[in-house]
Amino acid sequence: PLKKKERVKSLFLNMEGALTARDRVGVQDFVLLDSHTSETAFLDNLRKRYRENLIYTYIGTLLVSVNPYKELGIYSVKQMEIYQGVNFFELPPHIYAIADNAYRVMCTEYNNHFILISGESGAGKTEASKKILQYFAVTCPTTEQLQIVRDRLLLSNPVLEAFGNAKTLRNDNSSRFGKYMDIQFDFKGAPVGGHILSYLIEKSRVVHQNQGERNFHIFYQLLESGEEDLLRWLGLEPAPQKYMYLIQGRCAKVSSINDKSDWKTVRKALSVIDFTDTNIEHLFGVIASVLHLGNIQYEEDSNGHAIITNGSQIKWLSKVSPLGRRSFHSDLEAGIEGTSPLNIDLAFCARDAAAKAIYGRTFTWLVNKINGSLANKDLTRKTVIGLLDIYGFEVFDTNSFEQFCINYCNEKLQQLLIEMTLKAEQEEYELEGIEWEPIPYFNNKIICDLVEEKHKGIISILDEECLRPGEATDLSFLEKLEEKVGDHAHFLTRKLADQKTRKSIDWVDFRLLHYAGEVTYCVVGECGLDNKPVLCKSKNGIIKECFLPLELDNRRRPETVATQFKNSLVSLIEILMSKEPSYIRCIKPNEGKEPGKFDDVLIRHQVKYLGLMEHLRVRRAGFAYRRKYEVFLQRYKSLCPATWPHWHGSASEGVERLIKHIGYKPEEYKLGRTKIFIRFPRTLFATEDAFEY
Ligand code: ATP
Ligand code: MG
Repeated sequence: PLKKKERVKSLFLNMEGALTARDRVGVQDFVLLDSHTSETAFLDNLRKRYRENLIYTYIGTLLVSVNPYKELGIYSVKQMEIYQGVNFFELPPHIYAIADNAYRVMCTEYNNHFILISGESGAGKTEASKKILQYFAVTCPTTEQLQIVRDRLLLSNPVLEAFGNAKTLRNDNSSRFGKYMDIQFDFKGAPVGGHILSYLIEKSRVVHQNQGERNFHIFYQLLESGEEDLLRWLGLEPAPQKYMYLIQGRCAKVSSINDKSDWKTVRKALSVIDFTDTNIEHLFGVIASVLHLGNIQYEEDSNGHAIITNGSQIKWLSKVSPLGRRSFHSDLEAGIEGTSPLNIDLAFCARDAAAKAIYGRTFTWLVNKINGSLANKDLTRKTVIGLLDIYGFEVFDTNSFEQFCINYCNEKLQQLLIEMTLKAEQEEYELEGIEWEPIPYFNNKIICDLVEEKHKGIISILDEECLRPGEATDLSFLEKLEEKVGDHAHFLTRKLADQKTRKSIDWVDFRLLHYAGEVTYCVVGECGLDNKPVLCKSKNGIIKECFLPLELDNRRRPETVATQFKNSLVSLIEILMSKEPSYIRCIKPNEGKEPGKFDDVLIRHQVKYLGLMEHLRVRRAGFAYRRKYEVFLQRYKSLCPATWPHWHGSASEGVERLIKHIGYKPEEYKLGRTKIFIRFPRTLFATEDAFEY
């Protein structure tokens, strides 16, 4: 242990602690910045550190991480060992410190934790969550028996990434779903199980990709490296360019992605996660069905009805997701009830809707299946650390319902952060008997309400409109919005006169003033065709499980997607509120995925909407620093003859003697029940200086 301590100390001094270095590498905690509320000072510090490859910086216990876009060699097993069981502030900031801290507190206080990782696409959230999982996998105690749990926890990632991640313009491995994963630990601190919740997979990607983007990785992996037998059985050719659903982005090959080796990992992972041969057959049957569906072509007959022109696709479709050939054929031509013929646009729309529905539900099935294999049936009490890797705030040129949900989710999480940090801070002061002055901050509850309030919020209005199929249009929805929330300070519509007279409705929009900025949402309805009757008939085990005939009951009013999402968020927030939080805020340094490039404008914007300045203000409103008496005394006792080398009284008295000797002024500090609170960073710096030299 002594050796470790020394190593730790030298690291601390070499990299961060020494005063001379501070000018070069900045401060390791923003709380220590002299001009604490200035965004410029904040950015300067972040930039200094980034230049030195120091991608991590704290704001108190929150970790800010800037994507290095290169391998830094800071994630070795050796590094993991260094951070194990070491006091948070004694080492340079690291994601391992966050993981270790949550783990230690969980083990000693026997409570539950979560680590919320946020940031925009490409900022490094998923990498961060993987680093944490690896940290636990390597450093936690384990037994031979538990080895399998560990492997499954680790291997659930490549499977979910294959089916849920895709190349986008922003990130070659972009998660197109939100993920919350609980890692369960037994009383010895060994990982014994897990559970995953997934949120809103981006189904539209299955049928459409923008230029330069891809469909989900799994399609390319299967075609690129699927075993010959498997492909033959599925009726697939090893050539992505042959499939309509894969060619729109025109970039099947990406240099940073190795579909071949990823496929091998996925295959191995599936067997470790306990997929049977039948499961695997059905799973790839679904993937193949989607590809075959995408290749179905229609033309118009003399009555203007769509008829399928390429029967061979249907042949394969009925083979891989066995449906009566004729039935599926006519269903696809007729869309909903299988009776009324469709025009050609609607037929394509019905086809795409079926592909999206199949893929979306199969993804959910996959998550459930993984959960089955991670489940720990032992009923003894376990503690958990939850990892939340969820999409950041998004603004595109055209923002659809999906962005609306994502941004709403971010509002909710911001709200959580505000409540939990303010609450935690306040509680700590109360507990320690210290006076607390509240600081002003923007409470985004008003925006959450605008979206989710019962009867009045945007989701309620959307639900009401969904109850009027046939009558409601995108425009009527917009009119309702204006009527009910038109006066809201955070809501705007573009009331152009000609909007109401134009027939085409795919450009109507409304605007929300999010805490992170203004976003214009485009309102485009779905084609409204119900494909469940068709899909319920499938003999593919997975599709059959995903589409139960129960759903066909007209008396059951299904929840709208928006309400489902709202409810899932509400329960997520409940799950989180009952746990101790840690936060990681990831920042994307530039749009070009370039190592070392620090784009000021881009980063300033993220600092703003990640609420970092706000967090810093809250953190600094009262006292910049707090330390347990024991820790403070241990670190600085050499500065006072009365406490060096040994102090025999209580730690709090020792600290009192110590600071009297150093000459702290009354306004600089307060003494709580168990901790000393230091108001200004400069006070601590001065002490550090004295301690150094
Ligand atoms: P999305 O919201 O699109 O899923 P994300 O925040 O999850 O984005 P990641 O996939 O974690 O982003 O990171 C994007 C890429 O950035 C990674 O594929 C990797 O190349 C690089 N990267 C991220 N974090 C690190 C890191 N700590 N060290 C080295 N490279 C990193
Ligand atoms: Mg991700």
